[in-house]
Amino acid sequence: MNINNLFDKKEVVFSFEIFPPKQESKIDTIYNTLEELKDLKPDFISVTYGAGGSLSKNMTCEISSIVKNKYKIEPLAHLTCINSNKNQVNSILDNLKQSGIENILALRGDIPLGYKGSNEFDHASDLIKHIKQRGDFNIVGACYPEGHLDSKNLEEDIINLKKKQKAGATHLISQLFFDNEYFYSFLEEKEKYNIDIPVQAGIMPVINTKQINRIVSLCGAKLPKKFIRIMNKYEFNPEALRDAGIAYATEQIVDLISNGVDGIHLYTMNNSYVAKRISTSIFSILDTINNCERLIN
Ligand code: FAD
Repeated sequence: MNINNLFDKKEVVFSFEIFPPKQESKIDTIYNTLEELKDLKPDFISVTYGAGGSLSKNMTCEISSIVKNKYKIEPLAHLTCINSNKNQVNSILDNLKQSGIENILALRGDIPLGYKGSNEFDHASDLIKHIKQRGDFNIVGACYPEGHLDSKNLEEDIINLKKKQKAGATHLISQLFFDNEYFYSFLEEKEKYNIDIPVQAGIMPVINTKQINRIVSLCGAKLPKKFIRIMNKYEFNPEALRDAGIAYATEQIVDLISNGVDGIHLYTMNNSYVAKRISTSIFSILDTINNCERLIN
């Protein structure tokens, strides 16, 4: 199924992101996660590529295929291009095709130290163009409500984002953020450049303090004072911190839905307990909204 069609059918498209285990021998752990996530009936599940090292690259296709064929959920396979040539990318595309995968999140990937440029794929838009030429896949792109760290400013990043839409991306998934105002400003800015494909908001429930420094150093997301106060208050109480992290993410999502967001992409970090707590609240809110609308109409 082409996941882009979901945006015509659903009030809010709701998806999860999982990552392959860091060691191939631990592939069974992903079955446990998926077993629990499937009951939450997400619209699709995305599977990261290479974020945990080269081993996990090989597993993206395998796990996407398990998501589709064993759990009957539509997968979105991530693919990065920064250190690959066309032959390598083509071989992955062939594998994905043979496994029945129809949707790809096309990414540049982070630039490795000492990288001098490949001339084949320097930007995600080069990869999108290449995949589009083969004609086999629905293509999704990433976007950055606070601007990508490599960009001078948000405007420059949005000008480059337009290239992804032109190259053939049919929807965007955002980097995580903790202050919805950045997301709303981003939506307004991208309108000025006629970027009119759906955007899913990326939300990550922060459930331990170790995660925070890593997140900030990797993607530069700004932490609102309210968020910092919560993290400081429950720093030494892991259960309270987890619950507060879940509550914070849920509040963000409720606000986004109230403001008409196209979709929510939950960075689950393979934690099905957290995904379940958040989804249960959100689905109950969405049900209530749908019932009210039915009554009004
Ligand atoms: P690009 O779109 O190429 O953008 C990178 C920078 O280059 C930006 O500053 C942009 O403004 C600029 N730029 C883009 N196009 C041009 C152009 N034509 N000319 C000049 N400048 C340009 N990483 C992984 O390794 N594995 C994953 O599975 C993964 N999943 C992700 C999922 C999501 C939803 C997101 C938001 C990120 C993910 N990442 C992943 C991280 C991503 O690889 C990094 O953020 C990376 O640094 C940028 O990737 P991109 O596809 O956005 O790059």
